[in-house]
Amino acid sequence: MGNIDLSIVIPSFDEEESLPILVKSIYNNLQNQNIIFEVIIVDDGSADNTWYEIVCLEKKYSNITPIKFIKNYGKSDALDAGFKASYGNYVLTMDADLQDDPEEIYKLYKVISKEGFDLVSGWKKKRNDPLSKTIPSKFFNMVTRIFSGIKLNDFNCGIKIYKRGVIDSINLYGEMHRYIPLIAKWNGYKNIGEKEVNHNKRKFGKTKFGMERYIRGFLDLLSVSFVYRFKKRPMHFFGTFGVLFFIIGFISVGLIVYEKINKISENVPLDLIRPVTDQPLFYIALVSIIIGVQLFLVGFLSELVIQINSDRKGYKIEETGDVKKS
Ligand code: UDP
Ligand code: MG
Repeated sequence: MGNIDLSIVIPSFDEEESLPILVKSIYNNLQNQNIIFEVIIVDDGSADNTWYEIVCLEKKYSNITPIKFIKNYGKSDALDAGFKASYGNYVLTMDADLQDDPEEIYKLYKVISKEGFDLVSGWKKKRNDPLSKTIPSKFFNMVTRIFSGIKLNDFNCGIKIYKRGVIDSINLYGEMHRYIPLIAKWNGYKNIGEKEVNHNKRKFGKTKFGMERYIRGFLDLLSVSFVYRFKKRPMHFFGTFGVLFFIIGFISVGLIVYEKINKISENVPLDLIRPVTDQPLFYIALVSIIIGVQLFLVGFLSELVIQINSDRKGYKIEETGDVKKS
């Protein structure tokens, strides 16, 4: 296979019309540049003729790796499968729908290889999408920016380029493709750049993400940050809260017992001493101790799950062209 400079990963879900045009344009753009590249096209369970088109493209062009999912798993899984099959020193992702401009590929390659970034993200500054998409997206980007401390304008841009090491350090699933820069940063790749890119209207087919993208996106932000912080040691999270609740419980029990003993030693008649179960503190103690125990159990269970399931792969590839890794 030789030494590949650049792998281009294209997740495709029902993109039969766009793919042939896209691939032609990629080869036109790159053939006169002095780089060795491969194109990995992942058919994410399309219902149209996407797979047929990909197979035709594989025959027509050199260095195309087709991957076909048995059903639709989503963009993150498609990217993940593409990453694992890739060999390039740099890996670029782009959407199949012609919204990302193939002219940007070489420009991004130049930026990352010359300026030594770990990751360079596209920025669709002039975006050709309806307002219903651009306004929520501004908000999403703001929240993610504040949350992550990464100064990107367009986290979810489909066209991005990565150094090999970044790609090898991440496993994507769910809707985590929106947060690759965060994951990269958490994995120690902090040198993140941004470059303005052209953005076209969708010509064929329709968008695969509706309004639910924002709710799922937000939940994924929470789980991405949680998982990445505690995935090695969930007990650190659950245990901390467990201990906290235990302490509250024990202090409450202590206070109850102390009050009772105190009253008895002061010779207060027994029928004048409030029964333990009449005190609010009793219930606080009870609930705190139960919650504490539960948090510990969840912590232990999570540790067990991690032990058993340490290398999880959440998808099944039905057929591949020339896949070299895993
Ligand atoms: N995509 C995919 N699997 C999915 C949904 C989308 O592989 O389940 C691909 C899709 O074919 C396209 C890219 O992800 O190449 C971006 O999707 P889309 O254009 O619908 O997203 P938008 O541009 O609306 O954000
Ligand atoms: Mg699109």
